Amino acid sequence: MSKFWSERLQATEPYIPGEQPNNTNVIKLNTNENPYPPSPKALKAIQEATDETLRLYPPPTVNELRETIAKYHGVHPDQVFIGNGSDEVLAFSFMAFFNPGEPILFPDITYSFYPVYAKLFNIDYKRVPVRSDFTLPVEEFFQSEGGVIFPNPNAPTGLTLSLIEVESIVNQNPDQVVIIDEAYIDFGGQSAVQLVNQYENLLVIQTLSKSRSLAGMRVGFAIGDHQLIEGLNRIKNSFNSYTLDRLAIAAAKAAFDDEEYFQDVRGQIIHTREQTSKRLHTLGFEVIDSKANFLFVRHPHVDAEDLYLQLKEQNIFVRYFNKPRIQEYLRISIGTADEMEQFIIALEPVLQEVK
Ligand code: PMP
Repeated sequence: MSKFWSERLQATEPYIPGEQPNNTNVIKLNTNENPYPPSPKALKAIQEATDETLRLYPPPTVNELRETIAKYHGVHPDQVFIGNGSDEVLAFSFMAFFNPGEPILFPDITYSFYPVYAKLFNIDYKRVPVRSDFTLPVEEFFQSEGGVIFPNPNAPTGLTLSLIEVESIVNQNPDQVVIIDEAYIDFGGQSAVQLVNQYENLLVIQTLSKSRSLAGMRVGFAIGDHQLIEGLNRIKNSFNSYTLDRLAIAAAKAAFDDEEYFQDVRGQIIHTREQTSKRLHTLGFEVIDSKANFLFVRHPHVDAEDLYLQLKEQNIFVRYFNKPRIQEYLRISIGTADEMEQFIIALEPVLQEVK
């Protein structure tokens, strides 16, 4: 820590992202990326956008892509905000809608960036403990002082809230913004996008990093009432009017235009998730009912950290969180069917040892 750091910076903790090994020879099941390539149409669009126009700034209002996303989700383009990955959209949302001195609520087991943003922007927060089975106690998110944010499906559990439960939280916080982080919604669960025209306090955030295989392009977006979107635009313009680069815009637009590929890939991942869940269950794991592109699992007789290290030795990366309440668990991203087969094969001898 440097004496030059602001108080806000001193309150933050170093973010420890999932490991990104340089070795391409690994089975990478640790950061919830999509194991399948982006749509061929998206790759082609990137190539076509790679021309002399790259000397020009990209369109600051990202109109074409906003129109594409608006049409896809049945809303007006003024209800769409696009940012450089949903992490950026989340950060801007914290700045735009939450205030110091008015604690916001989020679950105690959830996406690790929420407390980071809250600390960075001096926003007070209260963590609402999840139940022993990791489900969210919905009523405890009612009547917040400063707003609410949670992922649906939640991370790293993959558990979902029903649309009725989500709506009750939005209803019970009429004067605060409720943000639903739907990074994993395309793998299961009911999207709250269909509610945005009824509630001026609801903001839904999604990403192209997971279901559309574009983590490397960094595209995320928010859908909500036009006044919330205007708020986000003001924050964005105060930092950098051109958050999205030309290649990312081209790729994202083409990805949305390739519905068939999108449905194929998400269907495959859902299928592989269900197969893997069954296999892990047979091997003695407790498997949480995830609707995301990962499984959150625990083996009653095997130490999670040990298992994580033994898999890593075999070049299989999974996610271990050394955190209270979840240190017995591993989060396994869903890879291709072949990768999951290799993962299961690698597990078997380890589990034999403990028998
Ligand atoms: N929300 C949740 C719950 C996530 O797990 C992630 C990815 N780690 C993000 C948001 C951010 O995704 P991206 O910035 O790639 O859109």
